[in-house]
Amino acid sequence: MRNNKTTAAVRAAALTLLAIVGAFMLQSSTADLSGLSAFPLTVPTYKFGLEQERYQTIETREVKRGTSLSELLQSFNADPDITANLQASALRSLDATKLVAERPYTLFTRAGEDVPDFVVYEPNGYEQLIFDFTKGNSYVRAEEVTTQLLHGEGIVTSNLWNSVMEQGHNAKLALGVQRAIESAISLRSLNKGDDYEMIYERKLVEGKDKGVGRVKAVRLSHNKRDVIAIHFERPEDGINGYYNLAGENMSSGFLLSPVPGARISSAYNLRRFHPVLKRRKPHYGTDYAAPRGTPIVSVAEGKVVQISRTRGNGKFVKIKHDDTFTTQYLHMSRHVKGMRRGDWVNQGQTIGYVGSTGLATGPHVCFRFWKNGKQVNHLNQELPMGKPLPEHLIEEYFAERDTMLELLDYDYDAVLDGLATKEEVDKEKS
Ligand SMILES: [Zn+2]
Repeated sequence: MRNNKTTAAVRAAALTLLAIVGAFMLQSSTADLSGLSAFPLTVPTYKFGLEQERYQTIETREVKRGTSLSELLQSFNADPDITANLQASALRSLDATKLVAERPYTLFTRAGEDVPDFVVYEPNGYEQLIFDFTKGNSYVRAEEVTTQLLHGEGIVTSNLWNSVMEQGHNAKLALGVQRAIESAISLRSLNKGDDYEMIYERKLVEGKDKGVGRVKAVRLSHNKRDVIAIHFERPEDGINGYYNLAGENMSSGFLLSPVPGARISSAYNLRRFHPVLKRRKPHYGTDYAAPRGTPIVSVAEGKVVQISRTRGNGKFVKIKHDDTFTTQYLHMSRHVKGMRRGDWVNQGQTIGYVGSTGLATGPHVCFRFWKNGKQVNHLNQELPMGKPLPEHLIEEYFAERDTMLELLDYDYDAVLDGLATKEEVDKEKS
C-alpha cells in the first residue's frame, strides 16, 4: 500500500528556490538588474494537468482488490448527486465497473476541505480517469502514446485463458481475447488442441512499455472451422465492437444486466415467496442489488415509452427496443434528469438510479424483460445480436478487416470457404 502525502507548501518552497537560482544565474550573466523584481518567483507545476499549488494535500493510494467504481466514489463522502453523476459519466469511458486492483488513484484536496476537488484514477500506464468533484463529471486524459501491433499465437491447453497466460501474457490480454470471441463461440466448448492467433496493441510512452491495449483481431480454429473477430471502432457513430468477416456484429444487442457487475438478489421465479407481502407471488423480474444512487443503464438501444410511478413498482422506466422486446426498470430512486417519453436511448446509457421506491425491502432494481407482451426470464432467451454496421462504414470496416487478415497471414479464399455460418455456430453453442 502506497501512501504519499505531499504538502503544497513544501513544493512551493522548492519551486521558489529554483526560481531564485534561475534569477541568480540570469543576474550573473547580465549587468542590468532592473527587471529582477518582475521575475516570477513561482511557476505552477502540474500533475495530471492539475495545478499542484492549489491543493493542500495530494495523496496517492492504491485500489484494493474487488473495489467497484461506486464503492470508490462513495468513499469520499461527497454529495450523493455528485457521486451518482460522476459514476454515470465514468461508466462511459470505463470497460468495467470493477477497478483494477493495486492501480493508483490520487486525491487533490484544498485546505479546509474534507472532500477532494479531484480524484485521478490511473487504470493503466498511459491514461488517467479524472473525477471532478466540483462539477460532478469525469474525463479521460491520455499521455502521448505510441501503439505497436503485436502478433501472438497458441494452442488451447486446459482452456483458452490458461493458454494465453502460459504464453507469458497477462490477464488483460487473456480477458481481451475471450471478450472478442465469447459471443460467437461458447468458450467451454473449446477442445484441447484448438489453435488461435491474436493481434493486439502494446502502448508505449516515451519508448517505455505501458502494457497491453485493445485486442484488434482474433482467429480461433475449432472443429476445423475458424471464428474470426475483428475490432472496429468509430466513436462518433457509436461503433465499438467485434465484427465477423461479413461485417456482422459479433456481440449481443442486449446487456445481461442493467447494473453491470451487480449481484442478482432474487431471480425470475414463478413460485417465489414475496418478502414484503409474505405470500407466494410469482416474481416476473430479476432483482439486481446495488447501493442507492448506482446508475441503471438501458440494456439495449430503444425508445423510452413510459416514465411513471405506481405503489408496487415505485418509480420506473420502460423502454421499447423493437417489435418483440421491451424492458422495464423498477424501484428507481429517480430517472435521469431531462429524459422524456419518446426519447431514444443507446445501449449502456444511464436512464436512472437505484433506489427502493414502491414495494422494496432495500435498494435494488427489479428488471422486467418483455417478449411479445409477456414477461420472461431474460437469462433464458436467445437474444438478437448487436446492431449492424451502418452502411457508410462498411467499406472502412472491410479495409480494416483486410489489414488484420494480412497481419494474421490469412489465406482469404480459404477463410471464405471454411467460414462457419451463423446456423452452424448457433448449433454448436446449444
Ligand atoms: Zn423484482
